[in-house]
Amino acid sequence: MTNPYIAIIVPTYNHEKFIGRCLRSLLNQTFARDKYEIIVVDDGSTDTTMAAIAAANQRNPHVRCISLSRNFGKEAALSAGLDHARGQAVVPMDVDLQDPPEVLGEMVAKWRAGYDTIYGVRRNRASDSLPKRLSADLYYKAHNLLSADKIPDHAGDFRLLDRRVVDVLRALPERNRFMKGLFAWSGFKQTSVEYDRAERTLGETKFKPWKLWTLAIDGITSSSTVPLRIWTYVGATIALMSFIYAFIIIAKVLVFGIAVP
Ligand code: UDP
Ligand code: MG
Repeated sequence: MTNPYIAIIVPTYNHEKFIGRCLRSLLNQTFARDKYEIIVVDDGSTDTTMAAIAAANQRNPHVRCISLSRNFGKEAALSAGLDHARGQAVVPMDVDLQDPPEVLGEMVAKWRAGYDTIYGVRRNRASDSLPKRLSADLYYKAHNLLSADKIPDHAGDFRLLDRRVVDVLRALPERNRFMKGLFAWSGFKQTSVEYDRAERTLGETKFKPWKLWTLAIDGITSSSTVPLRIWTYVGATIALMSFIYAFIIIAKVLVFGIAVP
């Protein structure tokens, strides 16, 4: 692999002010000396995101764009990016530089050493608010308890995926995709690199609590059949109790007749 072709996927939603900075920072990394492409996925932004991507593409044709017709959410934006990425290695990363581009060198080195997935693990979550940290911890615990596909602690979507992994993910029939669950399911030879997650200095999170909650429910229901089984048992128990009660009523009428109301 002397001439690797690396594709970076950057899902972006109303984060216009980060695009220039993100691209500059990416192009300073060593991978940019090889063949590369940076696919910015505009997830239905209503600000000047599209104009910023178009301008970046004018300056550097390695910067490509996918424009979604409305806001579909980060999972869909990532899927669209994976479908169009041409790299032998593909790296999804956030536009707000919370996933530090400096870690890419270490990821590429481990990829060259033979790993298929190299996921970033946050050394600390100090950049997240306490409620976000607590709810994330609780969520990962619940997910890993219920699902056989374990999501590693403190890992997000930031990771390097070999072409083999990307092809497997693309072949999945899922429409509503929970990427962290699918990454965990995919298998292959995995390792991690640690990084310090940058403060969210300028941008604010685009994940409102309700969006996060929906993502959490999607995550669990798409990676585990336990909730489905629980409701099967609840349903069966209620049905059984109803049958027993009906039998008691019929037996009472047969034995004692109908009571005068
Ligand atoms: N994002 C997206 N669609 C959305 C929400 C977010 O593509 O509906 C992108 C966003 O532009 C960023 C990444 O997903 O590149 C992570 O979002 P954000 O930084 O808001 O989340 P957090 O910092 O809370 O993880
Ligand atoms: Mg962020």
